[in-house]
Amino acid sequence: SYMALKNYFISLEGGNYAALKSLKGSTFALSESVKLTFLAIQPDPFAPGSQVCVACPCPFSLQKVLLNDDINSAAPCRRVAAEDFILRSFHSAYHHQQRSSNYSYSGALQVLRPSQHVLERSTVRLVRANNGSVEVFLYARVKLPGHGRRIDGHGAIRILYDELLPAATRGVVGLDEEQLFQHVTCVHDQEHLRSQLHPAGCVAFVVNGAILPRDAGDSDCPLQSGAVPFTSPTSLQRTFTLPYSGKQITGMALPRGLTLIAGGGFHGKSTLLRALEVGVYNHTPDDGRVFVVVDPTAVKIRAEDRRSVHGVDISPFINNLPFKKQTTAFATSDASGSTSQAANIMEALELGSQLLLLDEDTCATNLMYRDALMQMLVPREQEPITPFVERVTDLVQHHEVSSIMVVGGSGQYFPYANVVLVMNAYQAQDCTESAKKIVATSMTSMQGTSSPISTVSIFNPHVNRCFDGNETFATVRCRKGREGTKVSGVGKDSIRFSEESIDLSMVEQIVEEGQVNAIAQCLAMLFDEGPAGVEAILNKGKSLPTMFSCVGEKEPRRATFHSDFSMLIEGCDARQREARLELQTPSCYLPHGFTTVARRFEIGAALNRLRTLRTYA
Ligand code: ADP
Ligand code: MG
Repeated sequence: SYMALKNYFISLEGGNYAALKSLKGSTFALSESVKLTFLAIQPDPFAPGSQVCVACPCPFSLQKVLLNDDINSAAPCRRVAAEDFILRSFHSAYHHQQRSSNYSYSGALQVLRPSQHVLERSTVRLVRANNGSVEVFLYARVKLPGHGRRIDGHGAIRILYDELLPAATRGVVGLDEEQLFQHVTCVHDQEHLRSQLHPAGCVAFVVNGAILPRDAGDSDCPLQSGAVPFTSPTSLQRTFTLPYSGKQITGMALPRGLTLIAGGGFHGKSTLLRALEVGVYNHTPDDGRVFVVVDPTAVKIRAEDRRSVHGVDISPFINNLPFKKQTTAFATSDASGSTSQAANIMEALELGSQLLLLDEDTCATNLMYRDALMQMLVPREQEPITPFVERVTDLVQHHEVSSIMVVGGSGQYFPYANVVLVMNAYQAQDCTESAKKIVATSMTSMQGTSSPISTVSIFNPHVNRCFDGNETFATVRCRKGREGTKVSGVGKDSIRFSEESIDLSMVEQIVEEGQVNAIAQCLAMLFDEGPAGVEAILNKGKSLPTMFSCVGEKEPRRATFHSDFSMLIEGCDARQREARLELQTPSCYLPHGFTTVARRFEIGAALNRLRTLRTYA
């Protein structure tokens, strides 16, 4: 009966907390359509919550929503979008009921919170049972309460029957199928649109009517009032057809090459770039940035002084450092603004990025520009830095790597730009022609500052960089105590790796805590697998014919840059997907349901920032 669990808790009221252990592995029906399984039980009321799985029969037609009766044959992004919707629907039912409840909620129920982006997560799963029926699994943590160290049975009943059950009933069993269908369609259309960029010769698209500004510095929700919707300059306008909704959309398409975003301060430049940064992800339909998409390999580049760097060839940007410090396999535990930005560029290229996004607000000035006056004072031979302005065309012409840059303070990039946008009171204007005219008329005064474009590239796409697991983990292994190495995600910004802390606060395309958890598992796997396992992961990476998108679709491999290091990261990515984002490796213990997919760029970024990282050529 549906009261079995209730009766169980009543019978144990006030008893010894350790008795709850007997719940482990058992399943209870809480209602006709909601079942609860206890996966792990906390040892005492003060420990992290017990792990549960809530199961409900699939509340919608697979054929209608996934366009296929078989989960595994459906487009992965439709399944991911449906699972994402169910999670949101659960949260919104829970919060609705919490607001209208006349008693205060315990806060004992923990379910991963999704960001504005639709990503694959381990929290909600559509699963086909052995008997052929399809179920929704939702993984959560519940803190089972106590009176001191005694069982609080009535408290537990309230949490499970009055907080969890109604949220599952309304949010999952009773979800709005039409809204779900719209959500899934919208995500599939976004994914399709992104895949159309490359064939169309574009790297970014911003739909007319998009709401780019966010509500507040600490909120990723759309600005509530006073937002100026985006409109494309007519010269850059392009129309795409969305196959799943059948709609046509028009907006600004940015071609391959170099795009500059210029304009006065506070006119919306950084806001546009920030929207492009997260354009690698699909968004929820009400986000305002739906159909703002970029090349899926886009990486935000910024200066990040104090980070560590190991074995990165930054010589295209920095050479002849004082005291003959090598820059073809540069290593430092404390990078400067310019060396950190150079390393960030080279690492992004190595991992296969074909679109770099830069904002002058967070760039190192000396890596970005050098003007004629400074060049007269400090001759080329004395300056170790070759600024990005002299490399940006090489990347476009020889490696199909495009850049979109916010530059308000200098016109030095004008000669190399394919498009120059000017943001004026949040409106984008195409000022490419004016910029070209300015370049043409002032060329005499600029003579000697721009170096001619060479026919050979300074960049070598076959990067000779291998991960050295033994050396990287040597110190960690020494310190390894009885409890083993602990790797764990800490919020959205850092990973604990034994005694080390990896700072991810400047890896700006990490958008969810769950991604940090997933990355932590990847790094822990490299540690736990040992040399033979690492070799196997590397070989897996090398053998992959395609790569994965954030919603599990296969993506063609286009980048020319690669290395052993990048193949290892791709191997980690593949392993993480095979394990449905739960690698469950010994050094990184995580309850079920708390991981979100991370791109290979963010997994690589984390390993690149581990201070004990060692590589060899
Ligand atoms: P910039 O980088 O050009 O200095 P920002 O992008 O930082 O400017 O934007 C400045 C402010 O204007 C921010 O508070 C931002 O939220 C707001 N803003 C940006 N775009 C819009 C828009 N389209 N509508 C309304 N407000 C906007
Ligand atoms: Mg700005």
